[in-house]
Amino acid sequence: MPSKNDSKSNLLSVLELNQVDSGPPRATASDSLLLELAEANAALETAEPPEIIRWATERFAGTLTMATAFGPEGCAILYWLSQISPSTHVFNLETGYQFAETLAVRDRIQATYGISVVLERPEVSVEQYERENNGPLYRTNPNQCCADRKLAIIHRVLRGFNAWMSGIRRDQSADRSLAPIVGWDNKFGVVKISPLANWTKNQVWELITRENIPYNPLHDQGYTSIGCAPCTRSISFDEDERAGRWSGHTKTECGLHSRDS
Ligand code: SF4
Repeated sequence: MPSKNDSKSNLLSVLELNQVDSGPPRATASDSLLLELAEANAALETAEPPEIIRWATERFAGTLTMATAFGPEGCAILYWLSQISPSTHVFNLETGYQFAETLAVRDRIQATYGISVVLERPEVSVEQYERENNGPLYRTNPNQCCADRKLAIIHRVLRGFNAWMSGIRRDQSADRSLAPIVGWDNKFGVVKISPLANWTKNQVWELITRENIPYNPLHDQGYTSIGCAPCTRSISFDEDERAGRWSGHTKTECGLHSRDS
């Protein structure tokens, strides 16, 4: 298991910046890094989230970031981060379409835990974007809208880091069911850590209730999974947890966590 003395340069020595297919330049992992990640993943498979977070913050000290949309899982990780490594960089993809309630969670997290979440915005404002596209693209081409207002931004942000942490759980969807605890994220050319991959929704909510962790009040109004306001609806009891996302479209993921490369 790597120790906290492993340095940024140590990791960088096993990364190379390459042009991959037609996308932006991104790093690829050497065999030795992939082996290290596989060993860490096996060792952490049965670990509890705080142990995984501690490992990530030590192994990738100074080169780790976390992305959050202030869902319950993200708020749980922020609670642990505040105890383990509160200076860890954390960002939110502020598309310009988020609920006011979502952005208010950011303020409550800062007030409660002292963690300042950076809002990463597209260069083009919502008004200009809709003007250029003859209206809101989320209605006619949500894939392009997510590509422009989420994926392009996270590509830009992650170029400054060697590893990122997310709050995905394996039981959220078929696409997420194979998510490793630690692995190489080929899409973004960084290491990806998912401390809650093995946790259930109930475990997350038990923690939030027990520790009085701030969360998005829309969850109390039937919104189980919350993204941008135009692409999120509340769900009924018998619906899947993520059924309220891009309802009416075949789309199920914004592309941040899908396994395509
Ligand atoms: S979730 Fe909807 S509004 Fe947000 S970036 Fe994707 S398509 Fe656009």
